[in-house]
Amino acid sequence: MGSDMSTGRLVIVSNRLGDPRKPAAGGLAVAVGDALARSGGLWFGWSGKVVEGGAPGEGEVHHQRSGDVQLVTIDLSKADHDTYYAGYSNQALWPAFHYRLDLADFASGFFAGYQRVNRLFARKLAALLRPDDVIWVHDYHLIPLADELRALGCRHRIGFFLHIPLPPPPILAAIPGHEWLMRSLFAYDLVGLQTRSDADHFARFVQEEAGARALGEGGFEAMGRRVIARAHPIGIDVGEFQRLAASNESRQTEATIKKQYGHRRLLVGVDRLDYSKGLPHRFRAFRELLANYPENRDSATLIQIASPTRESVLAYEDLRHELEGLAGEINGDYGELAWLPIRYMHRVWARRRLPALYRCASVALVTPLRDGMNLVAKEYVAMQDEADPGVLVLSRFAGAAEQMREALLVNPYDIPATAQAIQRALRMPLGERRERHAALLAQVKEHDVHEWSRTFLDTLSAVETRPRDEAASVA
Ligand code: ADP
Repeated sequence: MGSDMSTGRLVIVSNRLGDPRKPAAGGLAVAVGDALARSGGLWFGWSGKVVEGGAPGEGEVHHQRSGDVQLVTIDLSKADHDTYYAGYSNQALWPAFHYRLDLADFASGFFAGYQRVNRLFARKLAALLRPDDVIWVHDYHLIPLADELRALGCRHRIGFFLHIPLPPPPILAAIPGHEWLMRSLFAYDLVGLQTRSDADHFARFVQEEAGARALGEGGFEAMGRRVIARAHPIGIDVGEFQRLAASNESRQTEATIKKQYGHRRLLVGVDRLDYSKGLPHRFRAFRELLANYPENRDSATLIQIASPTRESVLAYEDLRHELEGLAGEINGDYGELAWLPIRYMHRVWARRRLPALYRCASVALVTPLRDGMNLVAKEYVAMQDEADPGVLVLSRFAGAAEQMREALLVNPYDIPATAQAIQRALRMPLGERRERHAALLAQVKEHDVHEWSRTFLDTLSAVETRPRDEAASVA
């Protein structure tokens, strides 16, 4: 961590909090928790509670401690939740940033709610800030937060990381209010994006639409403000997965799965049930595999875990029905008394049991239509037996594809070609599997989540900030 950080407290802001001390918290909570613990920091976000009949733009604040970390959460009124969270964040920004304008809903009430909640977050957070705090804001729910904080006179260093993709200018320009969204990114000192192509989209957009001047090394100047925007690809906590894999429970689960599936070849998919993950395309490619390469019948078994998510949004319900229909059709067409081609589970799989699933699978299917990064790809690689590793089939449209060139890269829209790649993965000789895996593993280990948070915070603390004129807010 940079020298400035030794004096400043770290303040993390994200829509939801993870408890850094809970083992099931996941990579981001662990990494952020690590960084927070080092500086004795504060984590601020929505409590997850929705108050029926609550006043819009208001919410009760709760304070808790987790070790040295202060967790501060705020309740949201139903009106704010429905417009800010379910509405603008998840029905406008999420689909549009994943290139799905066809699924986006730009209802005007959504936008007002998004602004209102960002202003509420800023107001409550500003009251807790100390002068030398360094603030790190996460993800698409909170793009205008820095601008709202600046409007309240906040002169801190503020960084932003976008966990999802940033689409190219013509798609961004289709979002009502896009000029405002992009301008508000200039209230940050540092903007981190998942990939170089996201950073290119940022550069093109701010130059073409906001007349920004490129200063080199990711620096841009517009409207009297400067921002640095760079690719900072996120990684996983390899150590966390190694510890989970070494547990008794994990070993027992692995033995049980191996016994249950005997001589069969397992393929695995682990996702949230989201339209960006390309699950129907994946099921169709698997059907094509069984149709075109009959030697896989009565053998290849796809275990697909898809955890429920955002169920109040209609597009997610449609997707659920489509997948259930497809799994039923494929199992009906190809299943035998003792073999079901697809084991589809619509639920969360306990994190501590994930390593066993990854280790039993000869192939991982990580085939999103679009994904900011995709951590499952990295988790699968980290959990393979180096002497006899499985093969990663990875969509070229996942952010991870920029780093993981040794995977079998596929275009998930091209179903016959994806089926062919799956067949190649199933037949790949040991030597090639080991070579590809060794390269992938080295990359996953080197660029883990700890390196990600350290380099982001180091860059943020090294940014040259200029005197701020908070009256120049672009809100
Ligand atoms: P996203 O953030 O879009 O959900 P990522 O692949 O980047 O996608 O991260 C997902 C994280 O959640 C990974 O750590 C993965 O192991 C975990 N995960 C995803 N789906 C499930 C599931 N069905 N059960 C358990 N864990 C899951």
